[in-house]
Amino acid sequence: MQTNFAPEQLSDPRIAEAERILRRCVHCGLCTAVCPTYVLFGDERDSPRGRIYLIKDMLERGREKPPTPQVRHHVDRCLTCLSCMTTCPSGVDYMHLVDIARAEIAERTTRSSKERMLRRLLTFVIPYPRRFRFALKMAPLARPLIPLLERFGLKEAAAMLALAPVSPALRSGRFLGPGTAVTHGTRRARVILMTGCVQQVLRPDINDATIRLLARRGVDVVVADGAGCCGAVVQHMGEAEEAKAFARRNVDAWWKEIARGEVDAIIVNASGCGTTVKDYGHMLRHDPAYAEKAKRVSSLARDVAEFLFDYKLGAPERWSGLRVAYHSACSLQHGQQIHDEPRALLKQAGFAVVDVPEGHLCCGSAGTYNILQSEIAGQLKARKLDNIRATRADVVAAGNIGCITHLENASDTPFAHTVELIDWAYGGPVPVGLEHLAGYMTDVPKPRRQVEDFIET
Ligand code: SF4
Ligand code: SF4
Repeated sequence: MQTNFAPEQLSDPRIAEAERILRRCVHCGLCTAVCPTYVLFGDERDSPRGRIYLIKDMLERGREKPPTPQVRHHVDRCLTCLSCMTTCPSGVDYMHLVDIARAEIAERTTRSSKERMLRRLLTFVIPYPRRFRFALKMAPLARPLIPLLERFGLKEAAAMLALAPVSPALRSGRFLGPGTAVTHGTRRARVILMTGCVQQVLRPDINDATIRLLARRGVDVVVADGAGCCGAVVQHMGEAEEAKAFARRNVDAWWKEIARGEVDAIIVNASGCGTTVKDYGHMLRHDPAYAEKAKRVSSLARDVAEFLFDYKLGAPERWSGLRVAYHSACSLQHGQQIHDEPRALLKQAGFAVVDVPEGHLCCGSAGTYNILQSEIAGQLKARKLDNIRATRADVVAAGNIGCITHLENASDTPFAHTVELIDWAYGGPVPVGLEHLAGYMTDVPKPRRQVEDFIET
């Protein structure tokens, strides 16, 4: 793509980076067919190619002219699902381009006071587990107000309340950290586990299952003091500096362990966070105090499925043959290009894995998208649930808490994190919500030969 930036514009590293990305686009349009918003609306401006043109135009106009409402509207409607990046034959780095666009929009436009308040509220609450837990406890009291909020056009507030769990009784995990879960047997690896922000409040069982499974199979698991939210929530709202502050905090917390030289990986079990942590090296590349450390952190980051696949868990201790629909979170399949590993692990653990039709299309969760763009998110959610229903599965496995929370409250099929199902087959308790399926899991292990045959098919 031809660009027309003045030399003084290109002296800004952000514009120079955008120009490099823009120039790779050959406007072939292959990305349009896989873009959820283009699939829904058929509007070029809601496609990756259309957004790329809008962003180019916004950046070329220069800092004197503010971004138009049109560019903000269509960039806001982007889910950051990165499906376009998987498809693009030219290697256009849309993820960093849209990050630049969002930061420009945040700095150079003023949103309505309602939008500003809502965004401030989300960034004040979501990344902080204590605040988030308190908000979730309060949510059921405000739930009866949902119809009223919708009537007065406060659909984002209504969407936020609808997402909160119905029961105020939030589960508390067995291992909250900081600390180290020491392996029961001979140590084969030592890892840091990122416990994140919302996941440890909404479903602490996922961290418990991860720690239990790893510790049982020879891995020491460290939960570092001071680590927290990865920064994705604020990053996707254009708050680039705030996102960097979260990244620095995590780098500092993990560096104490890494500097001792005994860390084999940083395990992330929420794929939305994993995509961001793997990008810390890029995010902090201009920060002399953090660039090298952030690069090292990113190189150590592994999604839990990625780590377990390479680690070779061996045969499971139990066998169920339950039919599992694998929902591939966008942040895992497009953001991290992890496709086969979770499926292979589930098969190895004795589950019959089926794919969800239209698996490349986002479910509409996308961080805070299901609050800020609740109507589009609702349409994508309904489409995804129809596709899940068609699999006739006993349970849905997913590797991202965002997707699980977004979909499970309207699904006939229960959801579990992939690692919860694997932990169950390898000796852990039945995942919460799957108690009715407990009878299908037999303690009699299959002969090893049969397990391997099953993987090969
Ligand atoms: S597929 Fe890639 S090169 Fe083609 S239009 Fe989309 S972003 Fe541009
Ligand atoms: S990130 Fe997703 S929603 Fe955004 S342009 Fe790419 S495919 Fe479309």
